[in-house]
Amino acid sequence: MKFLSITTAIIAACLVAPAIAQEGAVPGGTSSASSYSCDPNTCKLPNCLCASTSPPGGLQPKDTPQFVVVTFDDSVQAKLLETANDMLNVKYVSMEYTDFSLVQQWYANGHEVADHTFTHVGSPSAQEIAAAKSMLHEYGGIPYGKLKGFRAPFLNYTAETLSNIQQQGFQYDTSSTATVDDCFWPYTLDNGMANDCWTGICAAGKVKLPGVWELPMYAVMDNANTPQLMDVYLAGSVADVTTWSNNNFQRHYTGNRQPFGIYVHPTHLTNYPGTPDASALKKGVVDLIQSLAGKPDVWFVTNQQLLQWMQNPVPNSQLASQPYMQCNLPNTGKEICNGLENITISADGVASGSLLQNCNFNTTNWHTCYNCPSAAPTLETPVPSALLQSNDPNYRKPVPDNCDSIWWDPIAGQCLCTNSTCAYKDTAVPTANNKTNGTSGNGTSPDGKPNSAANAMVPVYGVLITSIVAGLTGLLL
Ligand SMILES: [Zn+2]
Repeated sequence: MKFLSITTAIIAACLVAPAIAQEGAVPGGTSSASSYSCDPNTCKLPNCLCASTSPPGGLQPKDTPQFVVVTFDDSVQAKLLETANDMLNVKYVSMEYTDFSLVQQWYANGHEVADHTFTHVGSPSAQEIAAAKSMLHEYGGIPYGKLKGFRAPFLNYTAETLSNIQQQGFQYDTSSTATVDDCFWPYTLDNGMANDCWTGICAAGKVKLPGVWELPMYAVMDNANTPQLMDVYLAGSVADVTTWSNNNFQRHYTGNRQPFGIYVHPTHLTNYPGTPDASALKKGVVDLIQSLAGKPDVWFVTNQQLLQWMQNPVPNSQLASQPYMQCNLPNTGKEICNGLENITISADGVASGSLLQNCNFNTTNWHTCYNCPSAAPTLETPVPSALLQSNDPNYRKPVPDNCDSIWWDPIAGQCLCTNSTCAYKDTAVPTANNKTNGTSGNGTSPDGKPNSAANAMVPVYGVLITSIVAGLTGLLL
């Protein structure tokens, strides 16, 4: 099949943010009391926002857009991407089992890619987070500055995880759970965590990360009042899940319009030989998305779009005209390897395209518009040296910091953007020193490596973070 460019019929905005996966019901029920306190007189937008169930900027709920985010967790593979494209929108990527040409395709079509670690482990080390970010940049061509989000595998985040993502320059985490009492709008962690307090994360002084946003994952309360978070469709019949989802959406929509989320692992909604038919589940999710999209004032957005709005809230009537809500695909004038070229998917799910490089290792095989590494990436060396020398005619020129990869021709080494509307300057690029010093920049990481860049704005070294992926195995856990 051909990979069609996505853009969604369903959503007003085309970008989606990556999200990370987690499984099913979450513990805790409602959160225990927190010691959270925040003074809105000193904590002000655009860089600080207190946790609140009320819309930001003093907006009345009736004037507030009802945002919906759809996120897909785990690895990016052809069949899974097909499923995701059918539903749309956000992906969190872990590196194992991921095909980077598909990551680039997802990004080029206006979706968001976020970091979900390298090997999909709980309580990930700084190195796990950084390695994924590096690979997403190196092989998926995604500018560092567009890799802004993180979700912890199994939603198993800690105060240290949050500290790590701050040190690595991430703008937001979206691993925590919001139920009813703690159903807050996204907020900054200047004054700590305010939701998911049953874990003890809200204790005074536990987390204090100025400027880092927390985008809670909004739970669907089932008919036993148990919060369901990821893959809600696995928790009951299609009819029951549809009812729960609609009831919880209405709680937001007719209340204070906190964002609503649909968080899925595409693997559960994809048909494979020998596994139960997932068509009915997928139809249930697609029908839900379409019914929500048909309501007034409902906007499907990426996490990055949501945060742009959070930083400068405008009434519903002004949202469509905001620059970050436009969905313009680049017109480069020629076919380049920027994620928008035709990619063919074989019957067994292998991607190929005339401009793609095929990176083949004993244990893994994937494609990229950039250079294949000389060895399979590992956690320790996520971005090995390139297989080809820079004077080889097939060598691909890496994305520079002054061109977004949707405009970058890696074969000619040329930026095809020629005017200010498409110009891009990536200010989140790790320094060369950081790239080679071999540490992840986290002084408290379990690997015991020294903290080399505690205050770096950008991930020190790897940094590949985002994207949709998560290991297929991770999905099935
Ligand atoms: Zn996952």
